[in-house]
Amino acid sequence: MQNDFPLTLQHVQRRMRSCSPDAQVVTLMAPGELRRASFAELGARIDRLARALQRLGVQAGDRVATFAWNNQRHFELYFAVPCIGAVLHTLNIRLFEEQLTYIVNHAEDKLIFIDDSLVPLLEGLAPRFEHVAHFVVMGDGDAGSLPNPLRYEQLLEEAGPGNFDYPAVHERQAAALCYTSGTTGNPKGVLYSHRSTAMHSTVVMGPDANLLSSRDRILAVVPMFHVNAWGLPFAAAMAGADLILPNRYLQSEPLAQLIVSERPTMMAGVPTIYSDLLRYADEHRPDLSSLVNCICGGSAAPVKLLRDFQERHGVVINHAWGMTETSPICTLARPPVQMDEEEYWRLRATQGRAVAWVELRLIGDDGHEVPWDGESTGEIEVRGPWVASRYYNDPSGDEKFHDGWLRTGDIGSLDRGGYLRITDRAKDVIKSGGEWISSVELENEVMSHPDVVEAAVIAKPDERWAERPLCCLVLREGAQTSVEDLREHLRERVAKWWLPDEFAFVEEIPKTSVGKFDKKVLRAQLADGTLEGRVAVEARGRPAPAPG
Ligand code: AMP
Repeated sequence: MQNDFPLTLQHVQRRMRSCSPDAQVVTLMAPGELRRASFAELGARIDRLARALQRLGVQAGDRVATFAWNNQRHFELYFAVPCIGAVLHTLNIRLFEEQLTYIVNHAEDKLIFIDDSLVPLLEGLAPRFEHVAHFVVMGDGDAGSLPNPLRYEQLLEEAGPGNFDYPAVHERQAAALCYTSGTTGNPKGVLYSHRSTAMHSTVVMGPDANLLSSRDRILAVVPMFHVNAWGLPFAAAMAGADLILPNRYLQSEPLAQLIVSERPTMMAGVPTIYSDLLRYADEHRPDLSSLVNCICGGSAAPVKLLRDFQERHGVVINHAWGMTETSPICTLARPPVQMDEEEYWRLRATQGRAVAWVELRLIGDDGHEVPWDGESTGEIEVRGPWVASRYYNDPSGDEKFHDGWLRTGDIGSLDRGGYLRITDRAKDVIKSGGEWISSVELENEVMSHPDVVEAAVIAKPDERWAERPLCCLVLREGAQTSVEDLREHLRERVAKWWLPDEFAFVEEIPKTSVGKFDKKVLRAQLADGTLEGRVAVEARGRPAPAPG
């Protein structure tokens, strides 16, 4: 028998420092201004941070939250927090106030590490956080009215140099926590153990997955607050690959400049990021050809996008599927190149095949498994060592987990080679630019308008955002309410990017036999053109893309 060697992030940290001391984390501090730190330097800073956390009284199992962009300090927290046995809780900066307050209190976060540029988003909420003892501000900017603010660099300075003696950590201990709002009801927390994170990082490096090595430079555009940036910070540390972090500069121009100057081999992001970048690249012709091994997921990646990038700019983007509940990588489309071109692109368009250790099955409406024939569809169920077995302290989501399988709420088919194609979604949510919009909450807000009798919100496919909400509604008889009135009503109640661009005024919302809104019928009507959307007069869109 072999040693029962624990699969923990402590190993990843030791490996990063000893095997790849010269690999780098590069952070875009401002357009054209980069900050570089070698893995050796980062190791020393992580030791200081670990000591600082201990001095602040952080104990094993405590939740330490981050509210930050993709940057070097966030990377340091990714290792220091789990390696002392605490839990890294990445807060999604795109969520709105009620969701954030709920999550911080539900997780019982003890500390929040916050980028200075994000202070205005949290300072008003701080009094509502029940367990937070300190805010640690990262950067020199103003701490605003945050109570008990500490300064990150000062903490590291005071912690002093020298190796930190990490406590023993069990591989089944929680390393990280991330909440998903892609469900009905309150956001749900998913805990990742050291073991699941270590295994996920190992497998996502491998062939038929991301294919990473110490020769790679990874540009992680996917946020570190959304499923640990798809595990890439851990995988980069493990592989000894450079990690390039764009901070808050997610617009196409700074991203293109970063790609031209840093020559990453791999980039990870949602389709919206890529489609914006493609438009920019077509117009400005930056040299993006270093990107030979990208990954796109979070929403369905249109094959035209993948193909145009490859044929016009030499950029290869692989399509992947996963969820917060699955750490996230489950499938990735990397068909062999030596095959008929049409077949090759047909497979590239799919969500791909399960990576090692992930198992899939499809369950039909009758509760039985459907065959892998490429045509029959069913709800995708998944199991594996990095698939959650329940939500963190929230039994309300228990029905999604059964017999070791997770019901994903995604509908699809599998072919005999195991290629997954997602065709629909059973869960009642909309994913726009990589972040979730709750149809139920939008409906409730629309229905609070005195002239609205009933309202059902469905996703409408959108070239740029993947999906946008379309609100179907029935008005009180004789009401003259306009689209502008409705948007005005919603503007005070929901985040700006949730505002539906289109409203369809209908006689009646179709209902199921038990009287629920039958969104399947609405979606079918949308697809066959019988649902007329009245387009809002006001310019559409949100201030900045929200990559997932
Ligand atoms: P999240 O937990 O926010 O990462 O969202 C996971 C969900 O996003 C999945 O259950 C799908 O509904 C959707 N999703 C993720 N990747 C893809 C993809 N490649 N194609 C279609 N839908 C996707």
